[in-house]
Amino acid sequence: MRILIVEDEKKLAHALKESLEYERFEVDVAHSGEEGFFLINERHFDLVLLDIMLPGRDGIDVLSTLRKRNMTTPVIILTARDTIEDRVLGLDRGADDYLVKPFAVPELLARIRALLRRGHNENSMLLKAAGLEMNLITRDVLRDGQAIELTAKEFELLEYFLRRHGTVVTREMLARDVWNVSVRAVPLDNVIDVHMTRLRKKIDQAFAYPVIQTIRGVGFILREPV
Ligand code: CA
Repeated sequence: MRILIVEDEKKLAHALKESLEYERFEVDVAHSGEEGFFLINERHFDLVLLDIMLPGRDGIDVLSTLRKRNMTTPVIILTARDTIEDRVLGLDRGADDYLVKPFAVPELLARIRALLRRGHNENSMLLKAAGLEMNLITRDVLRDGQAIELTAKEFELLEYFLRRHGTVVTREMLARDVWNVSVRAVPLDNVIDVHMTRLRKKIDQAFAYPVIQTIRGVGFILREPV
C-alpha cells in the first residue's frame, strides 16, 4: 500500500512518514501542492494525506483538480483546529475524510485503515448508527429523523462515537483524540464527563432508550440497546 503525504511542515511530514513506514506502508512526501499534484499524476497511490494550508497551490485546489479529472484515490485532508470551513469545503470538494491538527497517530492509522477497507462505495459525509444520523458537511444531526442542536464540541464527541459505534470508548481515548491531551488527568476527566452528560441529555433524553451507555469502570459505548 502506497501513501502520499502532502505537507509543507517538514517535521510533521517526516514524523508521519516514519510512523506510516513503521506500519509497513510505502510512503512518498511532497512539500507543496504542485509537487503533490505532480506525484499523483506520476504514479499510483492507494491514499493521499493532504494538508489544506500549503504554499502556492493549496490542498483544496489540488483536491478539486483531482476530482474533476475523475481520480478516485481516497484523500484525507489535514486541517487546523479553528478552520471548520476548511473541512466542510474539503469534504464538499471530494475528500473522503479529515483530521484536525494536532492529531494522534493511532487515530490517523484507524482512519487510513477504515478508508482502505471501505473503498469508495460508502458516502463518508454521512455517519449513521443506532437511529442517529450526522452529516459532516451540513452539520445536521438527527435522531429518528428529529433534528438535534449540538455545540461544536458535542458534535466532535458524537462524531467520535459514531465512527466507533458498537465498540467501547474509554476516557483515555477521548482525552487523546477529542481533547488532544496525551496524559490523562483528573480535571480533564471531569471536563469529559460534563460534556458527555450534556451530549447524552440532547441525544437520549427525549427518546425511548439511551443509545450511549456507560460501561462501568471502562467508558462508554454507542449502540442499540441489547
Ligand atoms: Ca501547512
